[in-house]
Amino acid sequence: MHIDMSADKTPIPPASNFIRNIVERDLEHGTYANRPWAGAPGDAAQQTTGTTDPAKIRTRFPPEPNGYLHIGHAKSICLNFGLARDYNGVCHMRFDDTNPEKEEQEYVDSITDAVRWLGFGWNAFGSSHLYYASNYFDFMYRAAEYLIESGNAYIDQQTADEMRANRGTLTEPGKDSPWRNRPATESLQLFREMRDGKHADGSMILRAKIDMTSPNINMRDPAIYRIKRATHHNTGDKWCIYPMYTFAHPVEDALERITHSICTLEFEDQRPFYDWLLENLRDGGLIADPLPKQYEFARLNLTYVVLSKRKLIDLVEGHYVSGWDDPRLPTLAGARRRGYTPEGFRLFADRIGVSKADSWIEYTILEDCMRETLNESAERRIAVLDPIKLVIDNYPEGQSEDCFAPNHPLKPELGKRTVQLSKELWIEREDFMEEPTKGYFRLVPDGLVRLRYGYVVKCTGFEKDAAGNVTTVHCEYLPDTKSGTPGADAIKVKGNIHWVSAAHAYATEVRLYDRLFKEAHPGAGDRNYLDDINPNSINTITAQLELALKDAKPEDRFQFERHGYFVADQKDSVAGKPVFNRTVTLRDAWQK
Ligand code: ATP
Ligand code: MG
Repeated sequence: MHIDMSADKTPIPPASNFIRNIVERDLEHGTYANRPWAGAPGDAAQQTTGTTDPAKIRTRFPPEPNGYLHIGHAKSICLNFGLARDYNGVCHMRFDDTNPEKEEQEYVDSITDAVRWLGFGWNAFGSSHLYYASNYFDFMYRAAEYLIESGNAYIDQQTADEMRANRGTLTEPGKDSPWRNRPATESLQLFREMRDGKHADGSMILRAKIDMTSPNINMRDPAIYRIKRATHHNTGDKWCIYPMYTFAHPVEDALERITHSICTLEFEDQRPFYDWLLENLRDGGLIADPLPKQYEFARLNLTYVVLSKRKLIDLVEGHYVSGWDDPRLPTLAGARRRGYTPEGFRLFADRIGVSKADSWIEYTILEDCMRETLNESAERRIAVLDPIKLVIDNYPEGQSEDCFAPNHPLKPELGKRTVQLSKELWIEREDFMEEPTKGYFRLVPDGLVRLRYGYVVKCTGFEKDAAGNVTTVHCEYLPDTKSGTPGADAIKVKGNIHWVSAAHAYATEVRLYDRLFKEAHPGAGDRNYLDDINPNSINTITAQLELALKDAKPEDRFQFERHGYFVADQKDSVAGKPVFNRTVTLRDAWQK
């Protein structure tokens, strides 16, 4: 689907969507109005001692700390934190760290950084709402024992192959395990032995007892606890059994008193189990009403990138990019280094909206959001990216003079800065043409052009190297034509080119980034997505910049006039020697 956004700019407040409608309906009906909150996550006994929750709604952003966040996560962050912000609620920052493998502090730090960078936080109503799901292991274990005792779970000792064979298919019902009707006391004893390390990994598993003939395969006695001897980053070796994600997630939501649990569409078929589990635990008095409700929305699919942690890991580990924060990667760390703005991401999230139908969003929509926010915020500077010399033969040797360039054409209050003009300048190679094509209004032999913020000059000649490339253009300036002086416009010219004084320039590395993939849908059909990598996604050049850019601090963003938006690289810039990354061109160069 292609979304035409021309009619719908910056919706303030954010455009309505089906999730906002649900929240508004719940607020109107008071669904969550008199819900007690004990000030921290907890079971029914704890929560019911609390006072009325000051937060009108509770949402959560629950990443697994097993990778870096990507642009898809930004959609979920803006949605969940945005709802909390707009409806006087709280969004919990929750690390879903129930899987003992692959979770690292490096990921935890990068995730909190990314969420804060996007402009969101988890301090609200006087406390922090940063939670770790692994802190709920004790309760999860208790909940599992309760399910066994109440006849709603059993220990299965079928082999993995038997379990697979008996699960059935989409068209055929499953078959009951021979262990399904063992006495609860036996299951309870085995479960305790599992916990105590008396059984081998994979030798048995705890399953919910629901319905092996259910048309929804997720309801055919899903596994809820498995044996896994693995050291957990938070709980160490305390546990050798771990809950399955589908069991852990609803429990986490319930303990944290989440009202609206928003997830992506793949979880739609899990919703019946989500409700089954929480209703059972509520009936057993373990968790308090009202129960959280799950709602699903379409995940973000963006053309020309891949948004899957596994593929991103492949790109990093296969050295297709320089690291997790490579400016070409769709990670938030990469986007930040690329110069993308948090405002741009929030605008993007509002603009693409939230729906229940999977679709592809055009990458240019994201770029347009970045352009729009940068156009507002970025000061203008001058840069010559592909320099050739321009010598003003009638300008005195060794002399220079001030010219005045506005910092922001839309914000006169930001004033003007001084740039130096002298006899030798750098101009863009493409701003001179020996044999001009039709409609070319820049510098040509014997032609006139205005040096932006300076004089009108007339071309008097040019020099070439042995290979036939122009190296130097000669011209003469017309003294009464300086921009901003009376009568400067007496001589009309069609072209206007930018320049920097050679004696006052700062030469530095500039990286011109392009898309990492050359195909809109990397890996579509039977292609390997790695074969769709754009071989020319980075072009590193030495550019001549106006001197003021030498003082740019890491992450300072600018518009280089006529070229696009650039940022001083966060990592490779040294004080007084910044290098720049191109964030986005002024216009979409890919559009045909
Ligand atoms: P991936 O599919 O890239 O491995 P994930 O879903 O495993 O991502 P989690 O850490 O589980 O990553 O995600 C945290 C939250 O971000 C989840 O609630 C998930 O629904 C949401 N999320 C992940 N990818 C997207 C996406 N492309 N669009 C919208 N939300 C997403
Ligand atoms: Mg996941």
